[in-house]
Amino acid sequence: PYGPSVFRRVLLKLSGESFCRPGEGGISVDEVSRIARQASRVASRGVELAIVVGGGNILRGATLSRGSDVIKEATAHYMGMTATVINGLALQDALEGLGCETRLLTTIRMDEIAEPFIRRRALSHLSRGRVVVLATGTGSPFVTTDTAAALRGKELGVEVLMKATRVDGVYSADPEKNPHAVRYDNLTYEQVMRDDLKVMDMTAIGMCLDNNLPILVFNFKKEGNIERAIAGEPIGTWVNN
Ligand code: UDP
Repeated sequence: PYGPSVFRRVLLKLSGESFCRPGEGGISVDEVSRIARQASRVASRGVELAIVVGGGNILRGATLSRGSDVIKEATAHYMGMTATVINGLALQDALEGLGCETRLLTTIRMDEIAEPFIRRRALSHLSRGRVVVLATGTGSPFVTTDTAAALRGKELGVEVLMKATRVDGVYSADPEKNPHAVRYDNLTYEQVMRDDLKVMDMTAIGMCLDNNLPILVFNFKKEGNIERAIAGEPIGTWVNN
């Protein structure tokens, strides 16, 4: 039912909340299976797919270090980065279980469980049709996996950064709280920054702006949405210049 992909290579940003039930934490095997099914459809259409995984379902550095100095802020961020590896391992197995060859790559070395992120190697995996799951963000504290997604998206030469959410795009207000919230079809990076719209954090938006990397914010959990998105159908909200 869907047209051929209009993209050759995409980066999908999956927040930690994609790995758990809404409002919960930790990992839900059902949710992991669901996101793996969606992601595997992209790969099965011949699109090169890199996935940056977050860790907010397990731990966020800023939250853990707030209000106390027992765990240093930098340490808390490193803890957050290791949380992303837990999600990455889960996603890798779920994808491989669907017959989708996958490599887990980290910017903090974990030789026993993942490959180190090396740009040329990541590109080589992608060209062989392997899904590349990128964990530990940038490898540096004080930023988020959104920023890692913007950086890796540029570095790997993707055409679009697909930001998965559980609503249908970017709204003028929180659609889960305000029934009058309207969804935008298109936004500029400047509008997002000026109106403080919830797309990704500002560092990541600034990086996408600087690098001219388009962002598509879309509902990842709706069956068929990922196919629609890569077939160029007008779903979600596009952010570009
Ligand atoms: N983090 C970090 N550097 C990075 C990426 C992540 O220090 O390059 C830490 C940060 O503390 C963050 C946590 O890892 O809160 C988990 O990532 P994130 O909050 O981006 O996950 P998401 O919101 O996507 O679930």
